[in-house]
Amino acid sequence: MSTPRRFDVVVVGAGSTGAAAASMLAARGRRVALVERRRLDVAGARWINDIPPWLFDEAGVARPEPPERRCACVPITMLDRAGTPRVELERPMWGIDMRALGDRLRGDAERQGVELFAQARLLELEHHGSEGRPVALEIEQGDRRTRLEAALFVDASGLAGELRVRSRALARRCLPVERGDLVSAAQQVCSIADRAGARAFLARHGDRDGVLTWSGVGGGFSTLGVRVELDADEVELLTGVEATHAELDGPSLLQAFKRKNPWVGAVVFGGASMIPVRRPYDRLAAPGLALVGDAACQTFPGHGSGVGSGLLAARMLERATASRDDPGAASSMADYQARFHRERGGVHAAYDVIRRLAGSLGEDDVDRLLTSGLVTPATTSAALLQRMPTLGPRLVAEIARAAVDVPALAVRFAAAGPRMLAAERAYAVHPGGVDDRALGGWARRAAWLAGHAVDPHP
Ligand SMILES: Cc1cc2nc3c(=O)[nH]c(=O)nc-3n(C[C@H](O)[C@H](O)[C@H](O)COP(=O)(O)OP(=O)(O)OC[C@H]3O[C@@H](n4cnc5c(N)ncnc54)[C@H](O)[C@@H]3O)c2cc1C
Repeated sequence: MSTPRRFDVVVVGAGSTGAAAASMLAARGRRVALVERRRLDVAGARWINDIPPWLFDEAGVARPEPPERRCACVPITMLDRAGTPRVELERPMWGIDMRALGDRLRGDAERQGVELFAQARLLELEHHGSEGRPVALEIEQGDRRTRLEAALFVDASGLAGELRVRSRALARRCLPVERGDLVSAAQQVCSIADRAGARAFLARHGDRDGVLTWSGVGGGFSTLGVRVELDADEVELLTGVEATHAELDGPSLLQAFKRKNPWVGAVVFGGASMIPVRRPYDRLAAPGLALVGDAACQTFPGHGSGVGSGLLAARMLERATASRDDPGAASSMADYQARFHRERGGVHAAYDVIRRLAGSLGEDDVDRLLTSGLVTPATTSAALLQRMPTLGPRLVAEIARAAVDVPALAVRFAAAGPRMLAAERAYAVHPGGVDDRALGGWARRAAWLAGHAVDPHP
């Protein structure tokens, strides 16, 4: 027998997105339940994530302070395979300890009166009515079963999309993310076992402060980032490899670096996981159900960053449902979906064009891209900020000069530019509303303009 409990909103997943959504909805006076499969003190991301501070402001989440913020806007140097620095700029993101951000957001949620259900196993998502709206979620904690009834269910369970896959309306429209749209990533903070070794590593790379980054190390969309903090006796390591790579993944690339660099000591903390890097699903909601964060593929495709956009999505959901008696009403869900696509979907779809192009390059092409000067500090900075680049006459002239040496590569990237703009515009005119034909027509048009495959619109 299960005990029935009634809420306005049930959020599944207490990572940064789910905790923020629960807290924001509760601050609006909603009765909210937050369900998490793990213990709360180990929920969500447990490593360092780089996040542009403007995304905190936009989401209305207080900017992190130290020690939650480990570093602010340190320099970044992109090196080619020979170890020559090619692009140098002030990295416009902050390094955030996700353990601390997650704790803060879950603490906020608790203070707002959110009821927490930790170490819970999801059982059935019950549906009702002709439109198949979810009405209750059965969960199990030890030998206790609870039936959580709500007007709105929010899937913030990350890549697995635990409610999405159980949803009558969304499972067939939002298919599981394909391998080609996943990146295997690993991040660790390690102690420095040998300071002389760490100094020698830095000296070999020009004694630069901040983050040293190699791209295309494992072919295509792969990256290795190293930040040595001699003062703190720590080194931060980050790797990312396309999930389709035949031999490598994020953790093995990270281990390979450590084997070659025995000055790197024991792991202090960190983790590894798959990141969805496709554009957001065409459908982000259905009556009674909203997808947010990685569950909605709202990760920025340019570099697989999902924290800031998950917080933004949580805020958009809170605003879209704010003045409605029924937070899960079809009109509220349509409003949330349209807000995200119009404001952020276009930038994500635009950078997905670049991500797919980069993924088709071999190691030599990636190296040529860097050595040619086609990748500039201005375009890199825009990508790191998760914004569209501003192509002024000086930047265009700089890129045109670089293009002369790599004409074939330049032609491919030149074709991507208009496609990025077309994708951005297509999303800006998302039709909103609940009309299936209009939504399907928009999705097909956007897919054609951006060159991606359309999600099913049955
Ligand atoms: C190594 C690495 C480095 C990264 N670097 C960056 C970066 O620099 N910047 C950035 O912005 N992003 C980065 N990301 C991506 C970022 O971590 C994710 O986009 C972000 O954590 C997504 O947050 P989320 O809350 O949507 O999902 P998650 O963090 O995945 O949280 C989902 C939560 O749901 C819970 N859950 C899952 N299934 C169930 C279930 N059945 N029932 C109940 N609860 C469930 C999980 O336990 C988890 O707590 C990185 C990812 C990795 C792996």
